[in-house]
Amino acid sequence: MKLHEYQAQNILRQYGVPVPGGDVATSVDEVRHIATALGGRVVLKAQVLTGGRGRAGGIRLADDVAQAERLADVIFGMRIQGYPVSKILVNEALEIEREVYLGMMLDRQLAQPVIVAAAEGNVEISRVEHETPERVWHIPVDPLLGLRVYQVRDLTNGIGLDRTQWDTFVRVAMGLYRAFAENEAVLLEVNPLVICPNGRMVSLDARMIVDDNALFRRRDLAELRDETQETEREQLARRYSIHYVSLNGEVACLANGAGLAMVTMDLLRARGIRPSCFIDLGGGARAERVQAALQLAMADQPRVILINVFGGVTRCDVIAEGLLAVCGELDVPLVLRFDGWNAQQAYDLLAGHCSAKGAIHTAHSSEEAVGRAAALVKETKQ
Ligand code: GDP
Ligand code: MN
Repeated sequence: MKLHEYQAQNILRQYGVPVPGGDVATSVDEVRHIATALGGRVVLKAQVLTGGRGRAGGIRLADDVAQAERLADVIFGMRIQGYPVSKILVNEALEIEREVYLGMMLDRQLAQPVIVAAAEGNVEISRVEHETPERVWHIPVDPLLGLRVYQVRDLTNGIGLDRTQWDTFVRVAMGLYRAFAENEAVLLEVNPLVICPNGRMVSLDARMIVDDNALFRRRDLAELRDETQETEREQLARRYSIHYVSLNGEVACLANGAGLAMVTMDLLRARGIRPSCFIDLGGGARAERVQAALQLAMADQPRVILINVFGGVTRCDVIAEGLLAVCGELDVPLVLRFDGWNAQQAYDLLAGHCSAKGAIHTAHSSEEAVGRAAALVKETKQ
């Protein structure tokens, strides 16, 4: 789950990481109050859960309170990449001498957290890594030992920090790592971390993503969710605990369990067919969840829907019941494969039923189901 910058700032403050002074506003009135308290020269930052705010005009510097009000009025009306702006972070404007990059993330290959630093800030780090890998520094962190001071020292050398800034940088990096680890983040990116002419070091930007799988035990973090920043599909998927990824292909791929869903997608790809979505129905899926999943699948406008279910904790006939309620409305061909618990009952339930595009195709193995779906894609293209 992505956090807003102002929410991440609040967390960083608790760990002693310096952030710019200021507060979040939901109206021009509040912007005026905060800007007045900060002395007039402020930065207004649209709070949207997407990148590219700056380029879209969502980050503006104001010289005085009146200008801040005028700019806020414009920003509140904006949509940035489809995301409405309902909150603006009002921060004191800083004088910047130098910007660097500091990020922490989970490295899936190392299966460890890794700290990444670069000598320039306000950059797209993946691009810098690609173009000039020698300018990006990586430090893997042992999660049991935590970040050690000597590791941070390596970074200070790498990014060429002045000797006078080493201690401050160590304190900031250690605080950031604690904020990252203790809040079960998968990403905490400060882009840029700035150094002011008076030597002050401030986390100017803060992008934080916390692990969805940790939210059940972290109510405090779960409450930070901003539903206005979610698409209807994302909300629907979350409400029904469906893992859904919209892709750009021809066959909607629904399975129970991420492993089976991925195998099914691989089998499709091996035949040159692209999935239009990945849907993991999860264990013990009920009829309503199946209906929600089909609604999601249809949103990607597939040519064929392929449902591949292995009944372990999931009863195949329960999935079939969910299908029965909506299959008549689906205007694409359906291919089903059931195996395991009550598979035969599921086939029996659906026997004689149709989608709006004709008979429901059944198969008795993943291979067969995928082959059927691939053939149907070719037919619908003719
Ligand atoms: P992003 O575009 O969403 O990454 O927003 P950032 O908060 O990272 O700001 C982008 C850039 O705007 C920074 O790298 C700075 O160059 C500039 N900027 C942001 N805040 C200030 C500020 O207080 N003072 C000055 N001089 N520049 C700022
Ligand atoms: Mn930034």
